[in-house]
Amino acid sequence: MAGLAVAVGFLFGHLSLVLAIFFAGLFLWYFRNLLRLQRWLQKGKKYVPPLAGGLWGEVFNGIYRLQQRSRARNKRIVKLLNRFRESTAALPDGVVVLDRTGNIEWWNESAEKLLGLRYPADVGQRLTNLIRNPDFVRYFGEPEPEGRVEFESPRKEGVILTARRVPYGNKQELVLIRDVTLFRRVEDMRRDFVANISHELRTPLTVMRGFLENLVHEGVTEEERQRAVELMSQQAARMQGLVEDLMMLSRLENQETKVANEVVIVPQLLTALQEEAALLNGEKQHHIRWDVDKDLYLRGNSKELDSAFMNLLVNAINYTPPGGEIMVRWYAADDGGACFEVQDNGIGIAPQHIARLTERFYRVDVARSRESGGSGLGLAIVKHILGRHDAQLDIRSQVNRGSTFTCRFPTERVAHAEQDDSLPPAASS
Ligand code: ADP
Repeated sequence: MAGLAVAVGFLFGHLSLVLAIFFAGLFLWYFRNLLRLQRWLQKGKKYVPPLAGGLWGEVFNGIYRLQQRSRARNKRIVKLLNRFRESTAALPDGVVVLDRTGNIEWWNESAEKLLGLRYPADVGQRLTNLIRNPDFVRYFGEPEPEGRVEFESPRKEGVILTARRVPYGNKQELVLIRDVTLFRRVEDMRRDFVANISHELRTPLTVMRGFLENLVHEGVTEEERQRAVELMSQQAARMQGLVEDLMMLSRLENQETKVANEVVIVPQLLTALQEEAALLNGEKQHHIRWDVDKDLYLRGNSKELDSAFMNLLVNAINYTPPGGEIMVRWYAADDGGACFEVQDNGIGIAPQHIARLTERFYRVDVARSRESGGSGLGLAIVKHILGRHDAQLDIRSQVNRGSTFTCRFPTERVAHAEQDDSLPPAASS
């Protein structure tokens, strides 16, 4: 182009004028394209670059290609980031990222729930400013983190968390937060359980050893010997009862599946229970009344149901002063389910104990329970059995007034005598 302008200039004898016009035109063209480039870059949204020929066309296309490449890369990064966010959000464990100076840079949703972190206020804060537990602060002060630290959640009382520092990259750190409340509870239960069993077995064994030592001494009268044997056999029976209850509980706990759907003729089962109760009631002389729906059956396991009902009845007999009133009911509930209920007018239970009665070894009055031969496992067994039958245990009680224990079975577990001809006729109670 410039060559052409020089040639034209020579031809017409006005070289400088033609060149001046040529460069002015060139300058205007450059300026116009620069303006178009600037507008295009500023607006940004317009995807396609302005049309231009020559060098400018190449510049526009070059920038356009660069832009497209960077857009594609950004898209990939955003996608990756979203995937990372989604996967860390789904993590049950909390993750907090600390920068090189130990300040909070980023965290996932679980960390927010477990530690109560707030966005954006807590970005750039130190974790130890937010969680002031001394063990936690000490752990985060160590230059070479080892193991993990256990601390109570600053958000919820009773929730136990662990934090573990994991160094990565350039002096950065990941902090992994885990809720270990359940593990701790199971651990505590296991410890309590072992301590309880040891204690329960040690007491009768100590009593028996004492009697045995006395028996070998000379000068023990026949009457004393007999009394000692009687008491030792009582202690042996207690230990046997405890071991049987433990075995029953362990069997129930190991059976994961629900019980079979065999039809249990509850009225028949209650007739047998009535005979056993009469024997147990010998000394106490309670007045026990029975109100049994003879056409109401259940689907489940008869041995387990027998054990649960017996436990409730034995408790009513044991925790009611002599001559008490005990009412046993088996009836169809309004919602289509069935209820087994034992009501007594005995010593009753204070409200603060009720929720804990079904815990293993939980007893309101340990001495009284031992006296009556209780192991503290009865209601734990009842709860397990009912759980396996999709049933619930309701406990209502008033101190010195009496207690009512109700087992509520759902409709699906109920069977009626008249509905199924293959069932044997109901037994009378
Ligand atoms: P235990 O072998 O001690 O009877 P359970 O698990 O059967 O163990 O019962 C737990 C505790 O619940 C008992 O120690 C007693 O304090 C209380 N309890 C159970 N049934 C009754 C009841 N009918 N009346 C009053 N207290 C009861």
